Amino acid sequence: MTFDRLSSVFLSNTNHEEDQPVHLQVKDMGLQKRSEHDVYAGPSTRYCPAGVYEWVETDGEETFVINAQNCVHCKTCDIKDPNQNINWAPPQGGEGPVYSNM
Ligand code: SF4
Repeated sequence: MTFDRLSSVFLSNTNHEEDQPVHLQVKDMGLQKRSEHDVYAGPSTRYCPAGVYEWVETDGEETFVINAQNCVHCKTCDIKDPNQNINWAPPQGGEGPVYSNM
């Protein structure tokens, strides 16, 4: 039996206010495109257990999309990004997954 990632994110009851500052900060978006996407083929789309990161093609351009509201605070991106270009910061108000209720 398998489960898709977003169903498992739902079970974690993760919640972030829509209008809060993004707690996943990319230091250099240009480097993210040149290296994370062009050289390493976008590993963030695979290592993030919550499917937070996506490379979306818009008008022929690949854009890095961060669905920060789904983050389950594992900090894998902070460690695994090949250029250490993603910084995980505690979200405003201490929001996030409610593991104690699982
Ligand atoms: S902390 Fe974990 S769940 Fe959140 S964006 Fe990074 S890899 Fe994904």
